[in-house]
Amino acid sequence: MDEFNPDRENVIERAKDAGIEAIITIGSDLESCRSAIELSEKYDIIYAAIGIHPHDAKDFTEEIFNQIKEWARGQNIEHSPPTQPSPSRGEGKGGGEGLGSGPWALSSKRVVAIGETGLDYHYENSPRDIQREVFRKHLVLARETGLPAVIHNREAKKDTLEIIRESGINKGVLHCFSGDMDMAERAMAMGFYISIAGPVTFKNVRRLREIARAIPDDYLLIETDAPYLTPEPFRGKRNEPSYLVHIARTIAELRGITAEDLARITTLNAKRLFRIGQLPETGEIAYKIRGNLYLNITNRCTNRCSFCVRFHTDYVKGHNLRLSYEPAEEELKDAVGNPSQYREVVFCGYGEPLLRLDLVKGVARWIKQNNGKVRINTNGHGNLINGRNILPELKGIVDSISISLDAHDEETYNRICRPIFKNAFREVLSFTKEAKKFIPEVQVTVVTLKGVDIEKCKKIAEDLGVKIRVRELDVVG
Ligand code: SF4
Repeated sequence: MDEFNPDRENVIERAKDAGIEAIITIGSDLESCRSAIELSEKYDIIYAAIGIHPHDAKDFTEEIFNQIKEWARGQNIEHSPPTQPSPSRGEGKGGGEGLGSGPWALSSKRVVAIGETGLDYHYENSPRDIQREVFRKHLVLARETGLPAVIHNREAKKDTLEIIRESGINKGVLHCFSGDMDMAERAMAMGFYISIAGPVTFKNVRRLREIARAIPDDYLLIETDAPYLTPEPFRGKRNEPSYLVHIARTIAELRGITAEDLARITTLNAKRLFRIGQLPETGEIAYKIRGNLYLNITNRCTNRCSFCVRFHTDYVKGHNLRLSYEPAEEELKDAVGNPSQYREVVFCGYGEPLLRLDLVKGVARWIKQNNGKVRINTNGHGNLINGRNILPELKGIVDSISISLDAHDEETYNRICRPIFKNAFREVLSFTKEAKKFIPEVQVTVVTLKGVDIEKCKKIAEDLGVKIRVRELDVVG
């Protein structure tokens, strides 16, 4: 964009200084697509998305689109050898004199998405029927190349969703989301991410803030849309990638997590969608969320809950929790470091921690000796698993325990949790009762699932004399 001509190099440096790992720059017509690719070739941090913006759909020609197709498919369109050196970094107009007509071949390896494409019925800079036709062509290209689509929608919910559905593609993002929750849900159901931009920092955009709070971790992205949509506290000025941190902070606050958590989640999602950079390959044995440290000691469990996160993703809050082995006690202590720096150290992870009772006891004792606070999140099968009442063994080394109640009666529990033990529900109740004798804080949890009577669960907790926490479905960690 011309807005960055005076200081593009500095803008990129400021983005790096702010912790931005990658920038996706968007082409909206042929020349800006070419510039986007050239910038992406020039700066490691930059990748390109290419397409014809719905505003420019009226200027669409097959000839233009053929060039975009060739770039997207990984072909070079200019094969003449360079007659002069490629522009050096940081020189000339917009970080490279001659952008748009360089003699070197354009490689598409840096093209990570098709778009912006979509529909804009607000400004209607192009006739609606032409916008729809051009949008469809972009989605065909996205499907053919396997690249995700970056979709612009302004006041065109019905047609946007319908055209995506017809196209059959299931990989993309609704960028600078401005729709309603119904639209977000329908898009997510088709595999699309929802990307939130600067307006979320404006206090009066209640609907967008509510959406930014509610989008599940697995579907959330953030962006600047620079130079537009500048977030607070710079509203009214030119936007730039480093301002993403303000959007991240606002959304983190709305979701009750730290900006670090939010950054990890959205970075992972961006890497997955755009296939940028490396994904964490091995499961983490100790991972931070908010001020807590969680210990992931096994992926085994004596339940197979229908809602269990392990059955549909390896990740929780951006952490890979799929273990390739079960860690040993010393390894865990090393991973914890200084336990007193955390609000709590929680045995949790992708499985039932009390399957490894001896390890839990050893590490918990060590945490207490080093002034840490210990919590166990459990399915309440500890006594069944170990064949004895283990709760006296946890006395003095565990500060709190959170037990998954999950249902208001045995039949519902068996249907939802699918335990390997016949009398699991009754055991969860007696485990909870027994826990009160040995552990200072005891609570049960229940997930808002269809068929689970939350009021009856509350009554069970009350009768047991423990607190209850009602968890929203799919909100994990
Ligand atoms: S008890 Fe927890 S870890 Fe085990 S299946 Fe249920 S949700 Fe998953």
